[in-house]
Amino acid sequence: MRELIRLNPVFTHNIWGGTRLREVFGYDVRGSGIGECWGVAAHEKGDCTVASGRFGGLSLSQLWNGHRELFGGLCGSRFPLLIKIIDAKSRLSIQVHPDDAYAAAHENGASGKTECWYILDCPKDARLVIGHRAQTAEELSDMISGGRWDELIREVPVKKGDFLQIEPGTVHAIMGGVLILETQQNSDVTYRVYDYDRTVNGQKRPLHIAKCLDVITVPAAPAEESVICAAPKDGDGPVTLIACSHYRVFLLPVHGYMCWEQTYPFLAVSVTEGSGTLNGEPLKKGDHLIVPFGYGRMEFAGEMELIASTVNGD
Ligand code: ZN
Repeated sequence: MRELIRLNPVFTHNIWGGTRLREVFGYDVRGSGIGECWGVAAHEKGDCTVASGRFGGLSLSQLWNGHRELFGGLCGSRFPLLIKIIDAKSRLSIQVHPDDAYAAAHENGASGKTECWYILDCPKDARLVIGHRAQTAEELSDMISGGRWDELIREVPVKKGDFLQIEPGTVHAIMGGVLILETQQNSDVTYRVYDYDRTVNGQKRPLHIAKCLDVITVPAAPAEESVICAAPKDGDGPVTLIACSHYRVFLLPVHGYMCWEQTYPFLAVSVTEGSGTLNGEPLKKGDHLIVPFGYGRMEFAGEMELIASTVNGD
């Protein structure tokens, strides 16, 4: 039987980051302003290494390039997904991502970015920015150039366990206090709409207004279409949170025991709560691993919540 591939995450420090990745998830990472834990990543800005076993020490990129059999022989020059835990102590900039066609044409052949968020924790009455209120491209341009942010930006209420799909062209921002697990296309192409006039070392971070106006969807889709569900927690099997053309994401609530067959090219698995075992191997909150192609039957035991993802099969 193929072995589980445990990954060492990589971390980023950001002006908006906090300390919950160390204090709540127990990661050994110093300092404050720890914004992101890249749990499953094979990107030039962060490449996880395999923690142990036959492939120990290899980066996920090396594994993807040299051992495609572990991923069901999928095509593509890079591992398709990027999975992060994001701790927003203060709010992130308001941003938007291009789709594949725009990124290919304007960003040196990079992928676009579709992403989704599972809310791990947030304050009571938390909100996120999803979409905007402009009705036409002209109104969008006027509101941005006039700095009419309160009129433009649309906020939606969220709670722990909510799941949101962020299509390319959707204006979005994570607000302070929200802790999320993000599953996304393996891309880092982000256009900043507004950064609340914050400065870093006396400088404002650059905005990308022209590209934002190119890619923002007008009018925005209704907010209800982004907030997919408050995920059920009491089921006895994996729950599909979303299946889109880029990924398929599952919630796995394990209460005692759960059996699931690995029938996908690979499964990227992150433990978001609790502890237990997978086929006898210990798992705990904050662990990230890949269950390779052909692994077979997965027997989970313990009290855990996991998020798993794979490419969409179509
Ligand atoms: Zn984003």
